[in-house]
Amino acid sequence: MHSIQGITAPSDAEERRSKPAVVVYPNETLPPVDLDRLLAARQSMTKVAEVVVPPREGGSFRVPRGHFFRIVSVEGAQVGDLNLWNAEDLSERFFSGKTRALHATHVGRGDRLWSSLPFLRPMATITHDTLGWYGWDADGAGVHDVIGTRCDPYTNRLLKNDDYHHCCHSNLSRALAAETNMSVQDAEVHVHDVLNVFMCTGFTHDTHQYFMKASPVRPGDFIEFFAEIDLLGALSACPGGDCGSGHSSDEAACYPLLVEIWRPQPDSLTGRKFPERSGYPRTHGL
Ligand SMILES: [Zn+2]
Repeated sequence: MHSIQGITAPSDAEERRSKPAVVVYPNETLPPVDLDRLLAARQSMTKVAEVVVPPREGGSFRVPRGHFFRIVSVEGAQVGDLNLWNAEDLSERFFSGKTRALHATHVGRGDRLWSSLPFLRPMATITHDTLGWYGWDADGAGVHDVIGTRCDPYTNRLLKNDDYHHCCHSNLSRALAAETNMSVQDAEVHVHDVLNVFMCTGFTHDTHQYFMKASPVRPGDFIEFFAEIDLLGALSACPGGDCGSGHSSDEAACYPLLVEIWRPQPDSLTGRKFPERSGYPRTHGL
């Protein structure tokens, strides 16, 4: 937002600005996370599958409800763009904006990834994050944001008048197309705003613009999720690499990302309640 010359502040401007900030969605009444239960379950888990996502490419994976999955840094600092769908119904997908509103601009252990309307239930719960030490830095940046959208060839064309085919949007579209036998054009309409895994971002203090800085991730770091429903996932190894300089080109050094699927002992989750879709009757006042 720019201040406009010739617009004079009213005499009570400071008084109007001094109102208290109110958290839009106090989240104390969210269904509690049974993190202790999940942390106990992860002690017993064994790896059952893995998928390597090549640099500047996408990959897909499936996670049964009650399993865990990890996104692991290998070889070098690399940012990943994550999409999640209900494996049985692509219309239920990750809702980045509401996840941001319910938790924060960046997510970490104990936060949940919520699904789109009219479902609005946790799709996954974050159970471990080796970058949890990062917190907020002096620029106000954090790791694993739900404020960015994904790099895409449309915005790239808009800004640079150039066509680049390995933006995260395209990588995710090709991955979903290959997984579902859809055309890439049919698949891309299911691609949605992402969780920016390992990406270090914030808003500038002066102009409030979205900024990125080199990711602190190092090989061996991972973020781990518990699947609350049967999931289909797609991950792009962003052409921005560590996103410390640019994106939407082949200029940055890029590395693969590893997705691991882990199965806990089944009895570790006996009796656990898994989330149902929202009970709102969808009558909307009619
Ligand atoms: Zn990207």
